[in-house]
Amino acid sequence: MERLKNFSELDVYHRPELCPECGGVMIFKGCGEYKCEKCRHIEYDDYGKVRNYVEKHAGVTAAQASDATGVKQKTIRTMLKESRLEIAEGSSTFLKCEICGVKIRSGRVCPKCEVEFNRRMEQKLHERQKKMAGFGMGRDGEEGTKRFVRDR
Ligand SMILES: [Zn+2]
Ligand SMILES: [Zn+2]
Repeated sequence: MERLKNFSELDVYHRPELCPECGGVMIFKGCGEYKCEKCRHIEYDDYGKVRNYVEKHAGVTAAQASDATGVKQKTIRTMLKESRLEIAEGSSTFLKCEICGVKIRSGRVCPKCEVEFNRRMEQKLHERQKKMAGFGMGRDGEEGTKRFVRDR
């Protein structure tokens, strides 16, 4: 039987993390789009970039889309294979959510797991942001008060 993945193993298409403009956390909006919670700057993951390009340039090849977006051709081909870019209505082939195993029409995870994955990512990024803001100081202080016992 195929082993399911957990959230930490899920490898998404280079999800944007912190805002390049202000360092804010990028919040998932759906369809490969993320918005900075502070300055509202928009970023896309690989899927979002390719999707936007393909929507505006119908009939492009994977090579053209790769040149224009900077996303690897291999990644684009995987997206096409997974029919993440084009959902075939009435198709009898189903994909499985990599996390919970539920049947899905397109993509790699079901919408529920996608939302949950991004929620966890955003939580982690908020924690990282706090640490970067200098909360690490208190921690060092705590450690200093600890008694060091040496093993001999
Ligand atoms: Zn920002
Ligand atoms: Zn799922």
